[in-house]
Amino acid sequence: MEKRLRLAPSPTGLLHIGTARTALFNWLYAQKIGGKFLIRIEDTDFLRSKSEYTKNILEGLKWLGLKWDEEPIKQSDRISIHKKYIKKLLECGTAYRCFTTENEISELREEQKKKGLPPKHDNRHRNLSKEKIETFISQGRTSVIRFKIEEKIQISWEDQIRGKIKWQGKDLGGDLVLSRRAIGYEIGDPLYNLAVVVDDNFMNITHVVRGEDHISNTAKQILIYKALDFKLPTFSHTPLILNSEGKKLSKRDCVTSIDEFRDMGYLPEALANYMAFLGWSPKSAESEILSLDEISKIFDLSDVNKAGAKFSWEKLNWINSQYIKNMESVKLSEIIRRCWDNMGWEPPSEEWAIKLVILIKDSMTLLKDAIDESKPFFLLPPIQKEGQDFLENNHSKTSLKLILNYLIKQNTATLDKEEAKEIINEISKIHNIKKGILMKSLRVAFFGSLSGPDLIQSWELFSESKSDILRIERCLKSI
Ligand code: GLU
Repeated sequence: MEKRLRLAPSPTGLLHIGTARTALFNWLYAQKIGGKFLIRIEDTDFLRSKSEYTKNILEGLKWLGLKWDEEPIKQSDRISIHKKYIKKLLECGTAYRCFTTENEISELREEQKKKGLPPKHDNRHRNLSKEKIETFISQGRTSVIRFKIEEKIQISWEDQIRGKIKWQGKDLGGDLVLSRRAIGYEIGDPLYNLAVVVDDNFMNITHVVRGEDHISNTAKQILIYKALDFKLPTFSHTPLILNSEGKKLSKRDCVTSIDEFRDMGYLPEALANYMAFLGWSPKSAESEILSLDEISKIFDLSDVNKAGAKFSWEKLNWINSQYIKNMESVKLSEIIRRCWDNMGWEPPSEEWAIKLVILIKDSMTLLKDAIDESKPFFLLPPIQKEGQDFLENNHSKTSLKLILNYLIKQNTATLDKEEAKEIINEISKIHNIKKGILMKSLRVAFFGSLSGPDLIQSWELFSESKSDILRIERCLKSI
């Protein structure tokens, strides 16, 4: 039988890291077992669902490299089918109309609160007579449809992540509401637990992998599966993603949508790689830097942890820096050129751009670091105090003049690394100036400070962009 997994996001917000990680685990497991990965957009909360969120979710998944196998299903297209099944449950007596008003429910909650009891419906309309139902309807009362949950019923399943999970009917909050309020004999809009079962069955889903916040829903859904005589899938509940204080990761932790990670400068491959290790501990992995294809070969739900997974910026940053470092330079330069384009910076040549990328990539953690790291190569940096002090205390004027004269005299179009080293060596030898002084003076001329990337390689780039002479001249004026 074909193995089929799905992600069932509600388009009520941008793609969040929790949903993306659930998607990733579904996708990885589908690859691992040769199954299919599908998407169902659960858009029946008409007030909160928006088509731009659906777009954002699908684009975010694509960006992360998680392709799905069939056209996504929209839950809102299937409402009449959900209602058909509710009718079926009504007809066979496993569900019934409940006319309890909002006020009556609030009173019940208050009473339970006073007694320190958890909220639970008292199933007061389970056995209404036909006459009573008619009276309520003629009074204009609205009704929901409730699914009977016997107090004594035991529900259990073998969770692929958590092992055996057991629930008792009495702990599920009373009879379950399947549909929103409706007038007369109408059936209102179907609710999550009913729709999810009908749709998972329709999509022939064999493995349900979702967040641990759905564990009690699973208990309820198993009862609906049984009442409708549907084949049960296997269930797996992934751990929550926690912040550094061990609480559920939220907007307050400055992590919200996958978009934001992209805008912060994370590479999709790095973020996906990091997310795979958020709650998954492989028995054997040679490295933590693995592509999704590599991970899918060793991924197993049984290696997913039960305990919450702590989100670590430090580890994510490290993984991102590794991806930047190891990325093929031409590919990385294409990405970084987009950052430069946004700044209006134009490299003098393709080759120059690649050389600059090679020079800066080891100091980058995020893609946007390319801006700071490459800025001095496009714009003349101001001379900072530490640079100025160095120039003044080390007779840098002489050093820089000698270098400048050498460059003017030599009149080479562009300088390569070897020639640059030779200039330093020669001036140092002939004029008896320490190489360190020459190089630091030059560094201040180029970067305005004593820090920056490799000087000789930088010089090659400045020479090619015809700004080495210009920078030395500018610096001389400041001493
Ligand atoms: N729409 C539900 C959610 O976003 C889906 C849960 C499920 O996978 O069944 O939480």
